[in-house]
Amino acid sequence: MKVEFYRHGLDEADIANVVTVLNSVFLSTGPVTAEFERKFANYTGLPHVVALNSCTAAMHMTLTALGVGPGDEVITSAMTFLASATSAQHAGATPVLVDVDPTTGCIDPAAVDAAVTPRTKAIIPVHLYGTMCDMTALRAIADKHGLFIVEDCAHCIEGERDGVRPGHLSDAACYSFYATKNLACGEGGAVATRSEELAKAIKMVSLHGMSKNAASRYHGAYQHWDMLRLGWKCNLDDIHSALLVSQIDRLDANWARRHEIYERYEKGFGTNPAVRRPRAAGKCAHHLYPIWVAPEQRDSVLHSLQQRGVGVAVNFRAIHLLAYFQDTFGYKRGDFPHAEAIGDSTISLPFYPKMRDDEVDYVVEQVLATVQGR
Ligand SMILES: *Cc1c(COP(=O)(O)O)cnc(C)c1O
Repeated sequence: MKVEFYRHGLDEADIANVVTVLNSVFLSTGPVTAEFERKFANYTGLPHVVALNSCTAAMHMTLTALGVGPGDEVITSAMTFLASATSAQHAGATPVLVDVDPTTGCIDPAAVDAAVTPRTKAIIPVHLYGTMCDMTALRAIADKHGLFIVEDCAHCIEGERDGVRPGHLSDAACYSFYATKNLACGEGGAVATRSEELAKAIKMVSLHGMSKNAASRYHGAYQHWDMLRLGWKCNLDDIHSALLVSQIDRLDANWARRHEIYERYEKGFGTNPAVRRPRAAGKCAHHLYPIWVAPEQRDSVLHSLQQRGVGVAVNFRAIHLLAYFQDTFGYKRGDFPHAEAIGDSTISLPFYPKMRDDEVDYVVEQVLATVQGR
């Protein structure tokens, strides 16, 4: 048997929506993107959404629009994809990494508090695998020190913890619609926020700092535009938005299917100490299904699973140990022991709504055989 690491769930309706855009006059950011923004805002329970071309850009634009830049520090997790840190650098700020809760892999609020300096301007919590960080604790820390919170929700559209959803206790929630994410269009992203002013500022900096966007330049009587500040170019176009609009309606059904798969995996692995898993905290968005094996076994288990036809990935090795972060900021092994322990032991298993039960069972069998050296 061969079980792919990921198979997308695009259907004929999603594809037909793209064809409709291709047969229309307007290809870039226009009515379909606006429709997506309204629908996604409705799903998140937040009034304003700005669609962009990646989550990396979403975090960069949000920090820039909030006025975070050179001389400022932004605290984020050592256990994440590198973009949580580099987006702060794109804004001109310095990322400051901190350790995580060893049971969830999410940023440790006490470590955040300890890392605050007079230069700290923002926190980027990362809802790892789909499990939300402790936003209540982070909100209290942000209030105490006067910090912004910009959430990295690349894994977490559907999550909730302590009654809190992404973006509800922060300045903004940044999402990814990269090919393998829970809502996917190849490359895409968005910011959701309660602040109309912030949404407007993000729109402006994401379109060259221009006073008018393309759609409004072409509708009605021609209006001249101005350039108000230096901006970037990372708007989402109607072609990509068309792939997203109808998928929003399936988010909850897809989550429910991933939850079934999650429970089947959990039952299959039980309390086996050789296959540890992160602790669930609240409603996990179920983006990834990681197992934590013995660090000295990790790479051999990884390769053996590949040979047995099981698609695998590593999300993630601790980012402070990547060459660039060591070279640039002087980080070294030992700095963040919990993030390192997770990064050295983690393996992501196939996990998507299209997976069949017999595929889940096959993966469980192969993992158990591999960790036992069979
Ligand atoms: C995928 C991912 C990102 C980056 O998303 P893009 O849309 O590719 O920029 C950021 N953070 C985490 C945790 C991710 O998994």
